[in-house]
Amino acid sequence: MAQEETQAQAQASIPQDLLEILVCPLGKAPLRLEGSALVCTRCGLTYAIEDGIPNMLIDEARLPAGVTDLKQLACYPGEAGGR
Ligand SMILES: [Zn+2]
Repeated sequence: MAQEETQAQAQASIPQDLLEILVCPLGKAPLRLEGSALVCTRCGLTYAIEDGIPNMLIDEARLPAGVTDLKQLACYPGEAGGR
């Protein structure tokens, strides 16, 4: 019997429960899985998934189009006036 397991999926597989606890490190907003990366639903930062492990380093996240600085992101915790 030939059991062929084709694992040619482009979609990264992250356990649902892990996905649910992961948040954007910048603004604690939820993330969504998009292709092989995690995207912040609020600021749009894109975190790569490497070998099934999300790389949550802000320094290595990809900025959304049109954004050149972290301070421009919706998640950036720099609102004047504090809380
Ligand atoms: Zn964010």
